[in-house]
Amino acid sequence: MKHTGRLVLSDGAEISVIGGGPSGTFFSIFALKMAKMIDKKIKVTIFDPKDFTKSGPAGCNRCGGVISELLVQTLAVEGINLPDTVIQRGISSYMLHTAKGSVKIASPSFEKSIATVKRGEFRKNAEEPHKESFDHFLLREAVKLGACHEPVRIDRIGYDNGRPLLYSKDKIVHKSDLVVGSFGVNSTGAGMFEALGFGYKKPGTIITAIAELDLGEDRVSEFFGNSIHIFLLPLKGVKFAAMVPKGGHVTVCILGKKTDSDTVDAFLNHEIVRKVLPEGSFSGPACRCLPRMSVSAPKAPFTDRVVICGDAGSTRLFKDGIGAAYVMGKAAAKTAVFEGIGRDDFKAGYEPVYNEIKTDNYFGRYLFGITDLYKKYGIMTSGMVAVVEDEQNDSRSPKILSSILWNMFTGNERYKDIFKTAVSLPMHLDLWKEFARGIFRRGV
Ligand SMILES: Cc1cc2nc3c(=O)[nH]c(=O)nc-3n(C[C@H](O)[C@H](O)[C@H](O)COP(=O)(O)OP(=O)(O)OC[C@H]3O[C@@H](n4cnc5c(N)ncnc54)[C@H](O)[C@@H]3O)c2cc1C
Repeated sequence: MKHTGRLVLSDGAEISVIGGGPSGTFFSIFALKMAKMIDKKIKVTIFDPKDFTKSGPAGCNRCGGVISELLVQTLAVEGINLPDTVIQRGISSYMLHTAKGSVKIASPSFEKSIATVKRGEFRKNAEEPHKESFDHFLLREAVKLGACHEPVRIDRIGYDNGRPLLYSKDKIVHKSDLVVGSFGVNSTGAGMFEALGFGYKKPGTIITAIAELDLGEDRVSEFFGNSIHIFLLPLKGVKFAAMVPKGGHVTVCILGKKTDSDTVDAFLNHEIVRKVLPEGSFSGPACRCLPRMSVSAPKAPFTDRVVICGDAGSTRLFKDGIGAAYVMGKAAAKTAVFEGIGRDDFKAGYEPVYNEIKTDNYFGRYLFGITDLYKKYGIMTSGMVAVVEDEQNDSRSPKILSSILWNMFTGNERYKDIFKTAVSLPMHLDLWKEFARGIFRRGV
């Protein structure tokens, strides 16, 4: 479609949101709130075939379900308070497991301010029927504000007089003034936006693994408590893995380049992982899947009357995808409501936010490259564990390496800021001291 100059949302404008995951619902919540502020009447329809109250794939947006401290606080400021019925567990520490030992990294704020939530239900007859999935909660918030949810999969977009038309099974289901593409990376949704010809190409992805361990509330509390366990193990094809404690189960997430259906078994059978789990007391994962994760951002995430956000656009590398969905959903809504819905409006209002996440990931890539070296070489792994141990045991220590690792795996800090901390000279002196000790011990 040709660029047509100034386009704005007028009273009664129709917005179609394709995908009711976090980015689609955050967009809808903010668009409706902002439009109300300036007394503009808009209609928001969220299309998503999933029913987030159902168990199994029909209601699940596969994810680790860790909500960073920053996002929990930001949402509270926005008036979106996560209720106890959504929070599965508060997290106060990370347990880092390496081939050279394990070390606990306590939350710098000494509060259980990271929340774990579920993005789906794997049990047919859930023990926790009172617990709601995060996606269902956000969708309900959007509906409370006036959005309409249509349980429909959109499979084609066309145009009528410059206005987008949404199709499902060859039937027109909606005529829109603005289409928001928030379809993630685990569907064929990207194809219909590629077909519009404005230059959008689906993001690069890797295949990850998720497994749910149904241990029961008592054992999750006994063996995991309020700690997320991170594994930096020299396992082939695995970058890192995490075990995220929920109410009565633990979500295992494995990220790497060569993840397949055997990766989960190889990981769970690793001697260091087995030590973390209750001995011989569970019969393997109750549920497992291999979702895609976005690792690169498309160049053209908008055109006139179309904007892409969330995983289908740019997201944070290996962490805080939900936080990125919030940032992008809000920026897209702000631009659409206050500026306009033309390509130039999105370029001015939305693209800087989109690009900020993209640029930050360059620093993330570099930092994960360094983490790989620490995982690969035993002397470096031992040095890292020793320095973190010293920092954690000394209450007056500045805890530089601990905070770098904490921020690498939680969503609190941008990679760019972690990078600035990572060039700290005192921390490197401590690490070199530990490497020298390791080399000396090896020599002896
Ligand atoms: C293994 C793994 C672990 C992760 N762990 C975390 C974590 O702990 N914390 C965190 O913050 N992030 C995590 N993420 C990232 C997080 O899951 C995503 O960043 C986040 O879900 C993106 O939200 P979204 O709304 O863009 O996409 P999604 O959550 O994927 O939602 C897309 C929605 O669009 C719908 N849809 C798709 N196509 C269509 C269509 N054609 N028509 C209508 N609807 C459609 C789908 O049904 C779905 O509901 C993890 C990701 C993976 C793979």
